[in-house]
Amino acid sequence: MEKVELIHLRQDVDLPYHWAAGRYGSMMLRALRDRKVILGNRCPQCNKVYVPPRVVCGPCFVQPSEVVELSPAGILAGYSVVNYPFIDPETGQKRPVPYTYAYIKLDGCDNYLSHLVDETDPSRLYPGVRVEAVFRPDGERVGRLQDILHFRVVD
Ligand SMILES: [Zn+2]
Repeated sequence: MEKVELIHLRQDVDLPYHWAAGRYGSMMLRALRDRKVILGNRCPQCNKVYVPPRVVCGPCFVQPSEVVELSPAGILAGYSVVNYPFIDPETGQKRPVPYTYAYIKLDGCDNYLSHLVDETDPSRLYPGVRVEAVFRPDGERVGRLQDILHFRVVD
């Protein structure tokens, strides 16, 4: 086989990106920002409650039209303590390690919310342990999921 030269090109791409959160996403983010409330929605057919709120219940193909105010507390369903740094897309800075990324099942909700937990000691982290949301202080919330700073283990 003939050996051919492969040319490598370098280009730095500046890719600013923003998008509309949608009707349900905006409703949830406004509630987080303005009231420190986590909203979900309930499917009228199967009764499942989703967070973040969904436009369509996947199994039923119907619109979960009932808005539900969820508890800021729930249980840890699964987690991973992360020990390698990466650039946080929210801040552009390296996220300090270790940190815990988790799936949280809020009380009254049927699916999982992925978020951070401010505990990295595995002896305090196990499926079923109670956690609760810690919100950014008033005046610092801007309408993002990160208006929840993290969840904390409730003793
Ligand atoms: Zn459904």
